[in-house]
Amino acid sequence: MSADTPDRGSLAIFGGTFDPIHLGHLRAAQEVAEELELASVLFMPCADPVFPKDVRASAQHRLEMARLAVQGNPHFAVSDLEVRRGGKSYAVDTLEEMARRHPGRPLFWLIGADAFFKLHSWYQPRRLFELADFVVMTRPGAPGSDLLSYLTYYLDPAFAPAEGGWVRLANGHGAKRLTTTLLDISSTDIRRRAAQGLSLTYLVPAAVEDYICRMKLYGAPGGEDS
Ligand code: ATP
Ligand code: MG
Repeated sequence: MSADTPDRGSLAIFGGTFDPIHLGHLRAAQEVAEELELASVLFMPCADPVFPKDVRASAQHRLEMARLAVQGNPHFAVSDLEVRRGGKSYAVDTLEEMARRHPGRPLFWLIGADAFFKLHSWYQPRRLFELADFVVMTRPGAPGSDLLSYLTYYLDPAFAPAEGGWVRLANGHGAKRLTTTLLDISSTDIRRRAAQGLSLTYLVPAAVEDYICRMKLYGAPGGEDS
């Protein structure tokens, strides 16, 4: 974890491929951090994604773009924990390691609604709720399904409505949906634009756009991929 991350208060992990990180990720995380008064959001690019996915930029490039993107935000930091661990990045391994490193500190996992409703296909999904609370962020096109129905059907019938709009296991962890500003931005669309030599302005932070151009990522005309 980055040295400048506060060592107290709630800690949120925002996992993803971040290929590249974009303003949809950043704005959603900002709104969640404010709403839940999180001390720190750790953007954590994965090593190898668990589900087959065409990851284009190297882990080092994805980390560097995330670092550039969070610069200047005292509540945001980047973690290379999954990249250093290497191999397939299972969230349960990550959360176990975070819990060991930060005993007693509340842990949250930030996730877009598109990804959340596939949680039952993750490795040891029920175990995830012994380690962290899941914050589900709205995303254009993602299912608006009910968290309680989903969790009771797929993970554990013991999930129940709890205070503050949470759905929880008795005395345990749970999930909550937060309505964040809908920004229809995806890394897939950004990679396509970059490959066509189109501008990425207002989709990614200026420093990230500049990095993509300089490093000639994503097959920009005249460049090499990653
Ligand atoms: P790709 O198109 O390559 O899948 P992506 O834009 O979906 O990229 P990911 O790195 O796959 O980005 O996503 C990481 C996490 O961020 C996931 O939990 C995803 O749901 C969430 N997320 C991505 N884009 C947005 C967005 N525009 N608004 C809210 N959440 C988002
Ligand atoms: Mg995605």
